[in-house]
Formats: sequence, C-alpha cells, structure tokens
Amino acid sequence: MHIVVCVKQVPDWDIPPSSFKIDESLKQVVPPPGVVDVPSQFDMIGVEAAMLLKDEAPDTKVTIMSMGPEAVQDTIKKSLAMGGDEGLLLNDTLFEDLDWYQLALVLSTAIKKLESVDLVICGRQAVDWDMGVAGSGIAELLGWPALTIGKSIKVNDGTLVLERVLMDGFETVEAQLPAVATISNELGEPRYPKLQQIMQVKKKQVTVWSAADLGLDDSQLGADARKMTLERLYVPVTAVECEFMEGDTPEEKAQNLAKKLAEAKLI
Ligand SMILES: Cc1cc2nc3c(=O)[nH]c(=O)nc-3n(C[C@H](O)[C@H](O)[C@H](O)COP(=O)(O)OP(=O)(O)OC[C@H]3O[C@@H](n4cnc5c(N)ncnc54)[C@H](O)[C@@H]3O)c2cc1C
Repeated sequence: MHIVVCVKQVPDWDIPPSSFKIDESLKQVVPPPGVVDVPSQFDMIGVEAAMLLKDEAPDTKVTIMSMGPEAVQDTIKKSLAMGGDEGLLLNDTLFEDLDWYQLALVLSTAIKKLESVDLVICGRQAVDWDMGVAGSGIAELLGWPALTIGKSIKVNDGTLVLERVLMDGFETVEAQLPAVATISNELGEPRYPKLQQIMQVKKKQVTVWSAADLGLDDSQLGADARKMTLERLYVPVTAVECEFMEGDTPEEKAQNLAKKLAEAKLI
C-alpha cells in the first residue's frame, strides 16, 4: 500500500491569536515578530494515522507531501522522523496565495504524478486558515471517495474503514481504496521519534517538484483562476457593556434589575 500524507507548515499555533495582527488593506495576517513555523497540529496526527497503518502492514510506503516554501522541509523532516519513507516538497512562486481549489489542484496533480497511490491522508483542517476543505477538494479532483474527520482508521482487504467524529457521537464508514481520509485529534497524540529515527532522516529522499513539473501554470494558479475571492479579512469588534445595579440594599438592587429587564422587555 502507498499512503501520501499531506502536511502543512503554519505559524506556531501555541501563540495566542490576539498577538497576530490583521492588515485589512492587504487582507493579510501579520504574525508577531520572531514567530516560528511548525507543523499544523492535525497533520502530525495524520502522520500518526499513517504510521498506525504501517505498524499493521510494514511493507506500506508512506510519502510525506507538503506545498510551501523551502523552509517547509522542516515539517517534512519531522514527519519523516516519525517513520515516513520519502518526502515530496511542492515549491514554486506560483504556489503562493492559492485559494482552496488551486491548493487541491496542486496536491491532487502531484498525487496523480506519484502513481499507484492507494490512500491520501489529510488533517481535518489546517490550524491557520481552518477551512477544512483541502481533503474533500483533492478527493473530488481525483474522483475518489472522501471519508472525513476520523478518530480511528483501518484498511481491511482494500477497504478503508474510518470511525468518524460527529457532534453527538461517532459513526463508522467504509470506502474502497483508493480514497482520501481526513483525521481528527481524537485519534491520539503523534508518536515521538526515537533518536535513531531522527538520525535516519538525513538518508531519506525529499523530491522537489515545481509547477512546471506538475504541468501547471499561471492559467490555473494565477489570481484569475481562483474560485474563491477573499472579500474582507478583519477582527470582529466585540463590545461588552456592564452595568452595576444601584440600590442601598440587595432587595432594592434586585427591584431595580427587575425594572430594567422589564423595560428591555426581557421579562
Ligand atoms: C484570495 C485569497 C488569498 C489567500 N492568501 C493566503 C495567503 O497569503 N497565505 C495563506 O497561507 N493562505 C492564504 N489563503 C488561504 C488559502 O486559500 C487556504 O490556505 C486554502 O484555502 C486551504 O485552506 P486551509 O489552509 O485552511 O487548509 P484546509 O483545507 O483546512 O487543510 C486541510 C488539510 O489539507 C492539507 N493541506 C493544506 N494545506 C497544505 C499544504 N500547503 N501542503 C500540504 N498539505 C496541505 C493538510 O493535510 C490539512 O490538514 C488565501 C485565500 C484566498 C481566497
């Protein structure tokens, strides 16, 4: 079996959201100075899911794929240290500022080029933009089934079995491979690599493909080809008004509160 795990590198998600600024005119998020990039939380759980399948079937090949700048090699290497076999970096200036459809197009085109991929694993959502659409988009473009938000994953005789997390419980669903699965945090913590695994990463191959390698160009990846337009990016204003009830005694304060609520037609 050949599994491809899609991992995204994002600004450190441990940093409080309030320390990020929004440039409304450029429609950009401005991280605080010195913020480091790390693997997206759910994606390392996706790598863990692939490793659990590899534990069951050791001849499974796991390719770690990431689209982004050269620095994304860090996240690929961390995933390889967990037990991935090969890395694939999709790197090109044309891959900057893509919308979800273009992202899914790049990732699905790379998966087609890899050939004989049985299973694609994504995180349930990337922890920066939180759109949760890439996995389903890849599945749509490949014409494969998408089983989403899994808390456990199994492959039985070419059938993918995913236990899905619902608002009020769980459901178990199946699909024939090849398929796409997205993985949620309920699966469990990603494993810590052993020192020996970290040392072995140097020997593992990371292939780099550009847009030209994928046969993609500006006509598919440029601003005119976006399916989604970012209309506005802003921090919502939340105003909380607090009024203290006047009164000499608790009873008088309660009467004043009741009067206010009645005036506001709340009681
Ligand atoms: C006009 C416009 C401008 C934008 N500009 C920017 C921008 O400047 N910078 C920016 O970062 N975003 C930008 N975005 C957001 C960008 O479109 C989203 O990143 C994209 O839609 C996917 O959403 P997501 O990142 O929430 O991923 P999700 O759909 O939540 O990701 C789900 C899963 O897909 C996989 N995945 C996602 N991204 C990657 C990746 N790069 N490599 C490998 N696997 C991946 C992971 O497994 C991840 O868990 C812009 C969007 C628009 C519309």
